[in-house]
Amino acid sequence: MNDDQLLRYSRHILLPEIGVEGQEAILASRVLVIGAGGLGSPAAMYLAAAGVGTVVLCDGDTVDLTNLQRQILHSAEGVGRLKVESGRDTLLRLNPQARIEPLAMRLEGAELDEQVAAADLVLDCSDNFATRHAINRACVRFRKPLVSGAAIRFDGQVSVFDLRRSDSPCYHCLFPEGQDVDEVRCAVMGVFAPLTGIIGATQAAEALKLLIGCGTSLDGRLLLLDGLAMEWRSVLLGRDPACEVCAGRDD
Ligand SMILES: [Zn+2]
Repeated sequence: MNDDQLLRYSRHILLPEIGVEGQEAILASRVLVIGAGGLGSPAAMYLAAAGVGTVVLCDGDTVDLTNLQRQILHSAEGVGRLKVESGRDTLLRLNPQARIEPLAMRLEGAELDEQVAAADLVLDCSDNFATRHAINRACVRFRKPLVSGAAIRFDGQVSVFDLRRSDSPCYHCLFPEGQDVDEVRCAVMGVFAPLTGIIGATQAAEALKLLIGCGTSLDGRLLLLDGLAMEWRSVLLGRDPACEVCAGRDD
């Protein structure tokens, strides 16, 4: 680290759990953030501000006026622009040293595999089950830690699937495909603005902890937030030995 970096990240370096070594791990990392909306906004902003070396920001949408109530990567003058370009500009204003790679597409197939394989860690900030399951399959295949978040109405959830470990559940163990026919979308159901901030920031916290290797991650736990009562519940998750996505991956 140069003098500017030692100063910029000094409040991290002061923490014995992080220190110079932990900050260097953050600086050397490459994180894939899928979705530049309500969850991806705070998540990517904290990751870039905290010094993640490369943030790959992926989203095929453009900024809409209805996004601005919660998607704080974007501002009024960004309406109509690609979210990844609006987002890149915001992240570079926060931290000009960060490397931001915008991917203006819905990531799937070979491109999804390629990006997951190249990343140290993946944040699922998407808003639909098809994408969530595709991301999970790629993370299982390449054994990458997956930090998953969701927010709708006043309800949020967040978990970590540390797929580097053979005993960790995957997203499919928890939410098997086919049971998710009742997909609810923000556009229909509404979402409480700061809820996406709370969940997205929690995803960033878990991501940084995994990159540093400090503390205890949410691996094997699902946190559920009732934003109206402002109550968190923690549910233990186990691996489904019959899961059709992750069963037998350590054989
Ligand atoms: Zn599984």
